[in-house]
Amino acid sequence: MELWYTENHTEEARFSIKIDKQLVSLQSDFQRIDIFESGEFGRILTLDGYLMVTEKDEFIYHDMITHVPMAVNPSIRKVLVIGAGDGGTVRELLRYPAIEHIDMVEIDEEVVRVCKEFLPRTACGLTDPKVHLYFEDGLRYVRGKEGEYDLIIVDSTDPFGPGEGLFTKEFYGNCYRALKEDGILVNQHESMYYSSYAASMRRAHKRIQDTFPIAKVYQAHIPTYPSGHWLFGFASKKYDPIKDLKAEDWNKLGLKTRYYNTELHLGSFAIPNYVKEQLEEEV
Ligand code: SAM
Repeated sequence: MELWYTENHTEEARFSIKIDKQLVSLQSDFQRIDIFESGEFGRILTLDGYLMVTEKDEFIYHDMITHVPMAVNPSIRKVLVIGAGDGGTVRELLRYPAIEHIDMVEIDEEVVRVCKEFLPRTACGLTDPKVHLYFEDGLRYVRGKEGEYDLIIVDSTDPFGPGEGLFTKEFYGNCYRALKEDGILVNQHESMYYSSYAASMRRAHKRIQDTFPIAKVYQAHIPTYPSGHWLFGFASKKYDPIKDLKAEDWNKLGLKTRYYNTELHLGSFAIPNYVKEQLEEEV
């Protein structure tokens, strides 16, 4: 008998991974949490059946969500991370000695508990004294914060279920206020390839553009995410992610990365025409 994990990327396109065994299956107050063991991708975390992280390709996502903003402003000291229960984003941020304080707001404590036990390679930084964990809704947490953070990273689930509020105009406005004068917001923008994701992301991008003077989109190749072509949003009050890239300063830090480098940083903002056209369309 063979066991396979399958995610419907559309009604008519599916992505499957052969599973050796299922390690966790539980229902939290917010979502269904599963962890699988696979030969090809190592351990896999899914939430409500959607693939979040695999041990084999998580480095791509976590490199791109953290090192891109850090190379634009390597003096970032205080960071707010929203979602990110697997810990990969915090693990990468902790590699910067300049970062003094990380607040991480994850709605679901069970995700953190399960990842600490079954995904120690991503969750390894979650007990670091610089990391302050809050188990609540990111949308609520950020309300009322003013000029506190150098960087906000939104590493959430898709724009439905518990993550829905993190794609709203209210949320982006609150992030703008919570950031310092030279603050940066990075969020995962899903993919534009399949139409089911494209509409919600176009809307999210427009909302960010209406809120921040600088709002750009960059991309990465993530094999286990729908279509493999993934987008991130970079928004800032001050920094342009290309003109203000501090390549020399970042390279001097000597961080060893498997995906990110400063040439790729520049190239990642060169997005395909079909994505550009969709982002320019009226919503
Ligand atoms: N890299 C992943 C991806 O895009 O597929 C996301 C990883 S991480 C596991 C996403 C986390 O966001 C989940 O653990 C989920 O519980 C959390 N989350 C969803 N909505 C949230 C909210 N409103 N506030 C805080 N965390 C939230």
